[in-house]
This record gives sequence, C-alpha cells and structure tokens, in this order.
Amino acid sequence: MTQLYIGIDDTDSKEGMCTTYVGAVVIEKLRKIGSKLVGFPKLIRLNPSCPHKTRGNCSIAFAIEIQEAQIPRAKNIVLSTVQELAELHVETTNPGVVFYQHKQIPAKLRSFSKKVVQDIVTIEEAEVLAGEIGAEVHKFKFGRGIIGALAAIGNTLECDQTFELITYRIPKNRGTPRKVDADSVAEMDTKTYPRTFDNLDPSTGEIRITPHTPCPILYGIRGESPAAVKKAHKLVKDLEPIERVMVYKTNQGTDEHLRRAKISDARPYWSVIVDGAVCQTPRVIMGGHVIFRIRDETGEIDCAAYEPTRQFREVVKKLIVGDRVRVYGGIKEKPELPRTINLEKLAVLKLVPVLRKENPRCPHCGKRMKSEGRNKGYSCKKCKVRASPSSAKIVKLKRRVDLGKFEVPPRARRHLAKPLVRDIHVRFPKREF
Ligand code: ATP
Repeated sequence: MTQLYIGIDDTDSKEGMCTTYVGAVVIEKLRKIGSKLVGFPKLIRLNPSCPHKTRGNCSIAFAIEIQEAQIPRAKNIVLSTVQELAELHVETTNPGVVFYQHKQIPAKLRSFSKKVVQDIVTIEEAEVLAGEIGAEVHKFKFGRGIIGALAAIGNTLECDQTFELITYRIPKNRGTPRKVDADSVAEMDTKTYPRTFDNLDPSTGEIRITPHTPCPILYGIRGESPAAVKKAHKLVKDLEPIERVMVYKTNQGTDEHLRRAKISDARPYWSVIVDGAVCQTPRVIMGGHVIFRIRDETGEIDCAAYEPTRQFREVVKKLIVGDRVRVYGGIKEKPELPRTINLEKLAVLKLVPVLRKENPRCPHCGKRMKSEGRNKGYSCKKCKVRASPSSAKIVKLKRRVDLGKFEVPPRARRHLAKPLVRDIHVRFPKREF
C-alpha cells in the first residue's frame, strides 16, 4: 500500500456546485476501488481577501492508502469526476487538481500553504513549487485551482483545527428552499454549544447552519471535535432527503488568516492584528457603517465596522480619542479609499478617563452653586453663600464601554475568524464529546 495526497479546488461558481461536494463524491468512488481514507479529509479556507474567490475561498485535500498498481485508476477517477462536476462553463471556474505521493509534507509546501491563507500567490509560484517537491498538477482551463489544491495538501492544521459535518441534498432539491426543522436546530444548539458553534445568530435567532446559495449543501455543523458535530447532527431533524454526509477537518474558526502588523506594514489583501490608539472619533457614514482611525508609532489607518456587523457597531461607536485598542480584520484593495481594516474583532485594552468638573453644592440648600465666572468661584444666589474656585470637584464619568474582546455576529463573520467562544474550551477541556 502507498499513500497519495489529493488536493482539489475551484470547481464551483455562484450558480452552483461546491468543492467539498466534489471531494465527497471522489472519496466515495475511491473507496469503491479499495482505497482507504487516511484520517479526515481537510476543508481549508484560503485568504478571505483574495479577489479570485467565488464565495468562501475553500479548497479540499485528503490522503488515501492504495495499492501502487491502482494509482493510475485513482487519478483517473479524480480527474474525470472534476471534469464531470465542475462548473466549467463558467468563465471564473478554473479547477486545479494536485497529486502528491510522499508521506511527509515538506517545509516549503507548509510555508506556501500559510502564504495562500495570509497573502496572494500566483499560478506560476504554485507550478514552480510543485516541480520542486515532485507534486503532479492538473489544470482545467486557467487551472488557478492548483493554488488552493496545493495549499490544502500542505496545511497540516497542527496549530489549531475545527471540524465541520456537511450534509448534501439530492440533485432534484438543489436550488429550492432548504427544509430543516428550525426547533431541532435550536435544541441542538442548546445541547451542544459551545462544543459546536455558529449554529444560530444569538441576537436574531436566525439559523446559521444552512447556506443561502444554490450549492448542494443542506447544512454544515461546525464544532471542536468529530464527536461533537456527529452528536449535533443526530439532533437535527432533516425535512428532506440527504444524499450524503461528510466530516471535514478544517482551519475554520482558527484565525489562521491573521498576522500581527504595524500600521505602516499593513498591506491590501492581508488580514491583520494591529495595536493602536484611537486618533479620530468614530463616525457613522451613509449606509450605517462606522469608521474610526487608529495610530501607532508608524502611522495611521482607518478601521470600519460595516452595517452587517449590526450590534458590534454599538461598541465601536463608544470609543473615544486616546482609547487603546487591538483591531483584527482584513484590508481590501480600494484605490479610491484610504487603507481600511474591515473589523472582525476588537479588543479594548485601555479606556481614557472622561473627566467632568462639578460645581460645589450649597451647604444650606444643597443645590449646585453657580459659577461667578472664570476663576471667580461659585455662589448660591438664594442663600447668599460663596465658595472658592478650588471647591469644584473633578469627577470621572463611567464609560459606556468595557475593557475586553468584542466580535461581529456570526452572520457577518468570516469562515476563518475564531469565535470568542472557542476560548471557552480551553477552560473546559475535558468534555465528553
Ligand atoms: P467556495 O467557497 O464556494 O468553494 P471559493 O470562494 O472557494 O468558492 P474558488 O472557486 O475556489 O472560490 O476560487 C478561488 C480561486 O482563487 C481558486 O482558484 C484558488 O486556487 C485561488 N486562490 C485562493 N487563495 C488564493 C491566494 N491567496 N492567492 C491567489 N489565488 C488564490
């Protein structure tokens, strides 16, 4: 038996299909010829700011154990399934398939994978790397998918990982409204959260496990372990037939896209973590977006909480000049606008005090005394009492925002963004599922 890695990407379009579905079909076909899946297949989210992405910038990879003599047949199955299922008629769909027949993932391939999650690479870079490490690439049309296919093979998920159980619809139902019992999803969330997460939007109760696209997915449940997502799946009542189910190991919800940066270094297409002080008060612009500016020792940058981030904007609005914050988010290329960090999360590190001068109270009637003018002291006209200028008190007002971390709601969250609740399992590591 020998081990073969298979990576696939860029098979879908806005009109339909999903690379995870192609993967699930391929895996089933390969099983039928006697190959064995090694571990879980991987669903790898790539740079969320990548301009080529269709939706969530996802690619897949998996490893199989197979008889050496069966390898040509296995490769044929993969390529012909991609040929058959990919949305090749759509201009922007440019699939790529990569085969890699080594046990170890070389360091070069790991760093390439990291770059594809955090930055932009070219098809040529992918081809050169494939040549260097002996990976076999197959390009359909432009073949841009070889970037994601290689990146998915090379991502070993060693720092952090989550799981997603995906159910797929039968062909005749695709494109029609999804039928899942809403109460059962709420019950599933109550029984499995936070071992599963992002099932519901906490403020609206909206179901988040069903996508809104015409793709073959009925729903996807995200969680900390295969057991957690499987338990959750059993609790959900499907009101339509399911064609197949697949559990993927993923980098979703891990913050793998983020890198620490100084403001002057932060570049378009990156997702960054930047520490700074608010230097321009938050303002609401047309469309309900909230914009403010931060500064560090290297420069200034705008930060935006866009309208879909809903209640998150209320926290942002309460910041004032001088507050120290850590911002998390992606930078889009928009030549007509200043560089802007599209906020995913915000940590309020230090709040500047807001001070107010309070006039002294009259010792007789208890009412606040009136100022007599600058440095002239205070008086109570009614009781004919006077007080010195130094009798005023400086009081610290309570800020309407607290220190701590804040995040956008699930509906506005990027697939890679780590939900704050994921830190809870550090506190409760020994749950049974
Ligand atoms: P879905 O999430 O619905 O599966 P998608 O958003 O993954 O769709 P694709 O159809 O896979 O979009 O298209 C993204 C294309 O961009 C792929 O060809 C992939 O190889 C390429 N790509 C992904 N990340 C990068 C990157 N960082 N630099 C350059 N190209 C990239």
